[in-house]
Amino acid sequence: MGRVFLEHTGGSCLYSCGNCDTVLTNKNELVSSRFNGATGRAFLFKSAVNLVVNEVQERVMLTGRHFVRDVFCKKCSVKLGWMYEFACEETQRYKEGNVILEKALISESIGF
Ligand SMILES: [Zn+2]
Repeated sequence: MGRVFLEHTGGSCLYSCGNCDTVLTNKNELVSSRFNGATGRAFLFKSAVNLVVNEVQERVMLTGRHFVRDVFCKKCSVKLGWMYEFACEETQRYKEGNVILEKALISESIGF
């Protein structure tokens, strides 16, 4: 109480690269855990850090046509999921700018 802490995600659940443990995001950014990726279950996050993205690709999904970019770990370059650049369907617009990380490719850890 009364102490000034550096910005830190302590106290929440952290999500890191499953390959090199670089922290990517935390539970506060989690929008939905009910998405499906190439490897199975995937999480939708409002934002994530330490990622690099490739060029925009058009992809047709169950929920319609989207323009997405694949995202990779900045440190080890492993592919982790994709981000939504643009959704053609009005109902899917909420995903624009959000990031999908595949559950099988990231690790969850509880902060202190
Ligand atoms: Zn990594």
